[in-house]
Amino acid sequence: MKTHYHKNFYNLEIPYKDGMLLYNIINKNFVFLNKEYSDFYNDKQKWEMEQYSNMLKEFEDAGFILKDSIDEKGLYLKNFYLSRWYSKKLLFTIVPTTSCNFRCPYCFEQGIKFKTMQDDVKEKAKSLIEERIKTFKPESVGVSFYGGEPLLEKDKIIDFGRFFKRLSMLHGFSYNADIVTNGYLLTDKVALSLYNDAGIKSAQITVDGPESIHDARRFLAGGGKTFKRIITNIRDILTLSIDFVIRVRVNVDKTNINYMDELLKALSTLPQRDKKLEVYFSPVTGEADKTNAFMSDILFSQEEFGRVYVHKILPLLKKYGFDFERYPEIAYVFCGGITPYHILIDSDGTIKKCYDLVGRENESVGDVENYREDDKRVLFWELFDPLSEECKNCKYLPVCGGGCPYKKMKEGKNVCEMWRYVLKDLLVKIYELKEEDNEKG
Ligand code: SF4
Ligand code: SF4
Repeated sequence: MKTHYHKNFYNLEIPYKDGMLLYNIINKNFVFLNKEYSDFYNDKQKWEMEQYSNMLKEFEDAGFILKDSIDEKGLYLKNFYLSRWYSKKLLFTIVPTTSCNFRCPYCFEQGIKFKTMQDDVKEKAKSLIEERIKTFKPESVGVSFYGGEPLLEKDKIIDFGRFFKRLSMLHGFSYNADIVTNGYLLTDKVALSLYNDAGIKSAQITVDGPESIHDARRFLAGGGKTFKRIITNIRDILTLSIDFVIRVRVNVDKTNINYMDELLKALSTLPQRDKKLEVYFSPVTGEADKTNAFMSDILFSQEEFGRVYVHKILPLLKKYGFDFERYPEIAYVFCGGITPYHILIDSDGTIKKCYDLVGRENESVGDVENYREDDKRVLFWELFDPLSEECKNCKYLPVCGGGCPYKKMKEGKNVCEMWRYVLKDLLVKIYELKEEDNEKG
């Protein structure tokens, strides 16, 4: 019987020079097709001709052309639902305090009450954690310490960390933890203690620009500067002989985007940067974009951010020797909140499903004493369908995952991630930046 073929639904085709750039969103294969190859790719009749069988095989091997018996969209959806409903990894986010030693004007946690986790709440949280571990029997447990500024409660973090390490020995799962911090209190000594005592292997630290810009945006509660101390801390930690990774997150909006050259230049002087330093960029977002009129004027939309990322940030990453060849990862489920496998334990002992809801009293789905799998607030999240019909038929679904469920709940429509708007531009840019290197030699 004759075999019939089709183009992989997740191919992105970009006419380029006399041929085409071809990228597959799932397997990340990325090639330039010269005219001969792009003509073949676009001419289905040739696919079945004997003289082109080798060419067909090349396309098939790369996953760009598939047998008609293969349903790549169905496979993606199957994996999406599998990873949503069946995971061997259990995730906890723990907020030891919502207090913060910084006062960043764009903080989405503005307006919430500062609250520190009391000891009785901490002990009840541990009971809930142990109960979930016994129920789910995970192979691995991931923990993220979040705030506020979690290092204001370093002893509680260490206490939780020791608790997880003990449970991992008892129940035989692997344990991995990280911390999201502003970096001000994260000296090398503190990092060493987090690493040794609490099993924390990485920290996300936000740096918003070169010194003057960062200090104008991320200052101490009493008004002091923070940049120098954060960079010193990062430098000292990278010098330690432990595998502690620093992820520098740069929040960008329309007011600091033009200072990224200076920032990357400064970061490029850090030690061990190839092994233990990652730099990534995010648009300022969160609740602030809805509630703060000043902020809404300076924020990038997903589409605008995508364009500045491609046209301004990528060339700078290359200029300063950072990895610029970053293709978007497949997101089967964009957010743990819509799975049964993730809970966030807030400082007051309430349970949330979403990071943006830290400190927001009315948004809990239970608390450390009373969290039930059959609670309708829990099930509202876990049964929320993040995929509209449009999403299920969208080429960009594998890198968007249907987007942020909370935004979708609130807005009642698709809130597309930036890739939909800029992935083709990104691919052209990466190709051209690599070509520049090839031409040089
Ligand atoms: S619902 Fe959205 S904002 Fe909340 S944790 Fe998930 S992805 Fe993040
Ligand atoms: S949210 Fe938008 S980009 Fe994402 S899968 Fe749905 S339609 Fe596609």
